[in-house]
Parts: sequence; C-alpha cells; structure tokens
Amino acid sequence: MARYKDAVCRLCRREGTKLFLKGDRCFSAKCGIERRAYPPGQHGQGRARFSDYGVQLREQQKVKRMYGLLEKQFADTMGRASRMKGRAGENLLVLLERRLDNVVFRMGFSTSRAEARQLVRHGHFLIDGRRASIPSMLVKAGAVISVAEKSRKIARISGALETLESRSVPQWVEINKEAFEGTVKSLPVREDITMPIQEQLIVEWYSR
Ligand code: SF4
Repeated sequence: MARYKDAVCRLCRREGTKLFLKGDRCFSAKCGIERRAYPPGQHGQGRARFSDYGVQLREQQKVKRMYGLLEKQFADTMGRASRMKGRAGENLLVLLERRLDNVVFRMGFSTSRAEARQLVRHGHFLIDGRRASIPSMLVKAGAVISVAEKSRKIARISGALETLESRSVPQWVEINKEAFEGTVKSLPVREDITMPIQEQLIVEWYSR
C-alpha cells in the first residue's frame, strides 16, 4: 500500500503544530518543531498569508497527516461522516479515533500511529480474542483489544507500555498493562479529542 516515506518532522513544521508522528522523540528536546519552529523549504521563514481556501486546506492536511491517512482514505472517511446523522465534522473525528491503529496507539501499545499501523498489519493484536490485522477497522464500544500471546515479548510493544505514563490515555479507553489488553469503555465523543482541530474548516473544504 502507498504511504508517505519522506521525513515526517517536515509535516509538523508545515502545519505549525506537533502531529506526534515519531514516538518518544516527539516528547524530547530533539523534536523537529522545537528546534526549527518554521515551515520547511527555502521560503519557510518568510511570512505566509493564506486565503480562506488555504486555511481550510491546511486544516484538512493537518488532520490527514495526524492520523497518517492518504488523500483517498481521508476523502472516503469524510464521505462516510457526511452520510451519518449529526455533524459531519464531529463524525469525521470520531471515525478517525475509532480506527484500530489509532486505538492501539491510544491504549499505549505503540508510541506513534505509524508504529501501531505496522504492528496491527503484522497481526500482533486481537479484538475480542480474534486476530485483527486491518488498521482501518472501526472498534465498537466494549471491544477488548489484546496483544497476541506470542507478541508480548516484542520490545516495541513492551517498551511503549513502559513509557505510557509520559503520554496521556483518553477516558474512553481502559488499559490493563499486566494483561496486555485494553477495553473500549465507550465510543469517543468530540470532547474526548483534545488536539487543536477545527473540523468545520475541513467540512467547508470538502463542500467547495
Ligand atoms: Fe512532529 Fe514528533 Fe517530529 Fe516533533 S518529533 S516535529 S512532534 S514528528
């Protein structure tokens, strides 16, 4: 499957905010945006002025990059969110949060969504006792996500759990580190998503 392979810190610098794409490095002084808090490229330190279209585009790109989706996947998720009851922007964020790779990351089994996606694809996780290897699967309320028995010795998973305290765990999930499992207590709601996102701009961008 196609994926972004360039330096990811450039993406944070482009969006002007931390997208938390590099695991523990994002919480250290080595973070790219801490060291160079301006957009990448030759004109990065010049003054940028955005039109309404530009502002909407930047918000769409920011959220897409935050969750590690490509254009088509993101547009499909937006389409699905628009067909659901309620506000399309909020639906979009909830759908993104419910992705299995995001839930694995939120539960602390990985230090980034990219790492979570790879671990899921390699079949290291179970949902309610059944192997789940599709990162875009949507979890349901009450689902129990666990690390497969033979995968519990993987250093990336145990290492991520050891540093879990340095990252925040959302209220809608519950972790049992000793049992290598987590429960989706309830589906996330807009208030649970604390990243600085203006989802209405994304809706406007897709409504052009
Ligand atoms: Fe973004 Fe993390 Fe790189 Fe910092 S270290 S710029 S938060 S990807």
